[in-house]
Amino acid sequence: MSLWFDLIKENPAGGRRGRIHLPHQTVESPVFMPVGTQGTVKAVAQDVLESLEAEIILGNTYHLYLRPGHEAIRRMGGLHRFMSWPRAMLTDSGGFQVFSLSELRKVTDEGVQFRSHLDGSSHFFTPEHSIDVQIALGADICMAFDECTEYPAERARAEESLRLTMAWARRSLDHFRAHRDEVVWREAFDGRTQSLFGIVQGGMYRDLRRECAERLVEMGFDGYAIGGLSVGEPRELTQEMIAEVLPLLPRDKPRYVMGVGYPDEIERYARMGVDMMDCVLPTRAARHGLLFTSEGRVNIKNRRYAEDQSPPDPACDCMVCRRYSRAYLRHLMQAGETLSGTLNSIHNLAYYLGIMQRVRGEMEEQGPGNGD
Ligand SMILES: [Zn+2]
Repeated sequence: MSLWFDLIKENPAGGRRGRIHLPHQTVESPVFMPVGTQGTVKAVAQDVLESLEAEIILGNTYHLYLRPGHEAIRRMGGLHRFMSWPRAMLTDSGGFQVFSLSELRKVTDEGVQFRSHLDGSSHFFTPEHSIDVQIALGADICMAFDECTEYPAERARAEESLRLTMAWARRSLDHFRAHRDEVVWREAFDGRTQSLFGIVQGGMYRDLRRECAERLVEMGFDGYAIGGLSVGEPRELTQEMIAEVLPLLPRDKPRYVMGVGYPDEIERYARMGVDMMDCVLPTRAARHGLLFTSEGRVNIKNRRYAEDQSPPDPACDCMVCRRYSRAYLRHLMQAGETLSGTLNSIHNLAYYLGIMQRVRGEMEEQGPGNGD
């Protein structure tokens, strides 16, 4: 048994209130997943994430493979134990970073040749290798190795990318099924295993997206992601692609849209029926002094906050807003203090997690449309 998904309530607009049962945590959905790139959600300690009620976080396969290395992490009991995170975790396939961060890459049907952005060393990633690394890391959910189609992309390019992604999805799944029993924590969790999600690509072409979704569903993954979005396309197009794909995905499996988005977007997609989302935005923006609040975006560097005694977000109940003023947060930013990134990140994460909590509550109150 890898995961199972309880559909608690389904709303007429498609929104789903659910529960994703993973080995390390039962996750209330729809859920926002903070991104912990290198085994840390930047500037925020694990006990703080717990008190923010984050139930699942991401790890990045590419970064952890390069440093400290997946075999080292396996020897130390897997990523959960290494970083002391007892709740659920998801690792990406490494594909996105290979394509966006590394140099001198060469893509063949077999895999991707690339050079490390850290030391220039040469590496070769295949779907099988990505799965091996993800099994060593031991997240509750692994992702199939895919090629993220850039935007804009000509149709021929999107078709070729889709062909590669389909072949790699098949190989990822076969390799995962043959090796999923090897995860280091299996015995401690009554023989439960990791799960593998397939990723729907297809650029901004509706028919390619549909074709990809249908073929992945035939393969039978534990869940389905929609990837290749938020890569520079207009937001209307992002929404259109999500709306095109969602109805094709099985009702009893989790649906994950990767790498989105702004607060209003994650709320909209949750109401459309997306169960899981992740984004670096709340933490990355925080480190640059951008706060998301109930009153809109606050650029804390702005002079107008120099003596502003009000909390960062008057409507927010997080540990930062209960204790500190805008003036203090601005001062920390101006002084280049590291606490600045920490406090800003905590508030932004609380804001994102709070949106999902509110949406879940509203979905429960809306009737009828109970799940099965
Ligand atoms: Zn706050």
